[in-house]
Amino acid sequence: MSYAVKEMFVTLQGEGAQTGRASVFCRFAGCNLWSGREQDRATAACTFCDTDFIGTNGEGGGRFDTAEALAATIAACWTGIADESGRRYVVFTGGEPLLQIDDALIAAVKAQGFEIAVETNGTIAAPAGIDWVCVSPKPSSTLVQTDGAELKLIYPQPDLPPELFEKLSFRHFWLQPMDGPDRIANTQAAVAYCLRHPRWRLSLQTHKLIGIP
Ligand code: SF4
Repeated sequence: MSYAVKEMFVTLQGEGAQTGRASVFCRFAGCNLWSGREQDRATAACTFCDTDFIGTNGEGGGRFDTAEALAATIAACWTGIADESGRRYVVFTGGEPLLQIDDALIAAVKAQGFEIAVETNGTIAAPAGIDWVCVSPKPSSTLVQTDGAELKLIYPQPDLPPELFEKLSFRHFWLQPMDGPDRIANTQAAVAYCLRHPRWRLSLQTHKLIGIP
């Protein structure tokens, strides 16, 4: 199988329980809940996406014919981090990364010494071997991946109240204010909800706050 990667870069994870951790971000092209084209947004299952995941033309992007080739490129990206004292860490994101991640890729990336995280919309079951599964449920879709390390709910979404998810098997439950023109009001609403429901914690997109990718 070949893999289509929109972009790949080294940064700090900006969200959730791994915030601040040095990471290779590998953004796969394509999503099953939106084509990525503006003319399709109104009729898509997921309508608030702020990510460009079309094509393979981003920084570090490309088409990789084998799992080993993609894993080697991820490892080369990590060497941009001078100090190797921390465990190598790759975040597979998208788009929807589970459209492309398979056993061969997991094995090849592990062979390069990486811990693997995935950020998924939860509509596809995660294969075994992923160390950190972050699920961010979206409307008009069926949640298949119902366990993992963290559940990150973009808030508010009228069709997806937090109560729908709090009994699922995740270690961390995050509310992340929806970005966009109502970001301040959404943040206030998320803070208020977390204060009333301490099972949920506030997740901020800290990379945006400090201006890193
Ligand atoms: S599921 Fe994620 S990647 Fe896909 S359209 Fe929604 S926010 Fe974007």
